[in-house]
Amino acid sequence: MRIVMKFGGVLMEDPEQIANSASLVAERAKKDDEVVVTVSAMSNVTDEIIAMGESARIGDMERVRPVLERLEKRHLDAAEKLCDEKVLGETTVSIKRLIETLSQCLTGVFLLRELTPRSRDLLVSFGERLSAPLMRGALVSKGVKSVALTGGEVGIITDSNYSNAKPLLNITEVMVKDRLLPVLKGGVVPVVTGFIGQDENGVITTLGRGGSDYTATILASSLEVDEVWIWKDVDGIMTADPKIVENAKTIPVLSYAEVMEMAYFGAKVLHPLTVTPVQERRIPIRIRSAYHKSSEGTIIREKGDGSIPVKAVTAIKDLSIITTGGAGMIGIPSVVSRVFSTLASHNVNVVMISQSSSQANISMLIRTPELERALKALKVEFRNGDLIRDIHTIPKVAVVAIVGEGMRGMKGVAAKLFSAVAKSDVNILAISQGSSELNISFAVQEEDVKNVVSAVHEAFGLNKA
Ligand code: ASP
Ligand code: MG
Repeated sequence: MRIVMKFGGVLMEDPEQIANSASLVAERAKKDDEVVVTVSAMSNVTDEIIAMGESARIGDMERVRPVLERLEKRHLDAAEKLCDEKVLGETTVSIKRLIETLSQCLTGVFLLRELTPRSRDLLVSFGERLSAPLMRGALVSKGVKSVALTGGEVGIITDSNYSNAKPLLNITEVMVKDRLLPVLKGGVVPVVTGFIGQDENGVITTLGRGGSDYTATILASSLEVDEVWIWKDVDGIMTADPKIVENAKTIPVLSYAEVMEMAYFGAKVLHPLTVTPVQERRIPIRIRSAYHKSSEGTIIREKGDGSIPVKAVTAIKDLSIITTGGAGMIGIPSVVSRVFSTLASHNVNVVMISQSSSQANISMLIRTPELERALKALKVEFRNGDLIRDIHTIPKVAVVAIVGEGMRGMKGVAAKLFSAVAKSDVNILAISQGSSELNISFAVQEEDVKNVVSAVHEAFGLNKA
């Protein structure tokens, strides 16, 4: 069997976690499976690097130095614990070299007082470039032949949209096959840095936060593997955030479409684009617990389980509502399109839309950090007030969504949903259902999230798996 295995930051957090992760790889690699590994940075490292970059940009190197020292020590200590004497030397040398280069890059940012998206991608790439040699060292020490490679080195080629680059899948497929098939045939386990690729000019890019999941499926599709295993510190994908709902349960089967919808509606399960590369080839993704190997976790595949209409309740917080109204909105389609193109051209993401059928107003949910930018842009665009007169906002809003393919064409789902919301005495600010009927989403005040999510979770029997 050919498998891509992905380990996130928590499973790379310290030498104990890395050792456990490496043994999950070794177990399969020793059974003659072909395993490709992709890893995240050690937990928090990406955030720490972003913070160092910011400090350097504003000229505060006093803040940078101690963090960089801790980062070096954390990786060197881990190497010491994970590597036997055969690989310790080379692992230590790679870590020291990477830290030295990272330090030079930060000095560059400090001197220029400038941090472009391109340089930020270069900076954060060090997180995964530092963690991959640790996994490789651990594997070699367990008797598994292994090599650490960057996303660019294995041929993940992307556009140059720094911090959110998209893979150029055709060329990537050719390159990844060329570079990794001989490695696999030689019985060697490649450990590939998650999250990073390179553009056609050889400049390092990143695939967006949480992008290691995406790396896993890009590699999987290019290599036509049998399965992708995304190891987690939890037992798969849950029916709700267990921090909100205590009796949330593991969902055994999800379709690609359901997972994408869940990721979009705030379930922090996978990078939202993760399933896109494997969909076409119908490669299944397993989300498994790295601690309870016997539990089945969640399998994501082409067909979900149609007998369960609603699979999960999700919530996105930190949103605000903008409502635009005015006589000009009625029956003049171009006004609506101008609203959206204005927001798009200012890089404001609209999470959810609802329009009253009188057409006199539209409510849009957007992320709170983008609120000010959105308001300014709309007021400038509709500056004279004849088309759109009132623009008002509601802060501290969340979107709650129920997701599931089985609700398509099924009657009574909305009734059940909203009677549960009513019973929990929560006021709904806006409602939206896509015609795909994959979800129903609605906006509530942020303080109501816990109540409403628990009530809806129970109403659909999700607490009784
Ligand atoms: N290290 C990156 C991040 O923190 C990518 C990942 O973990 O998947 O976003
Ligand atoms: Mg992640």
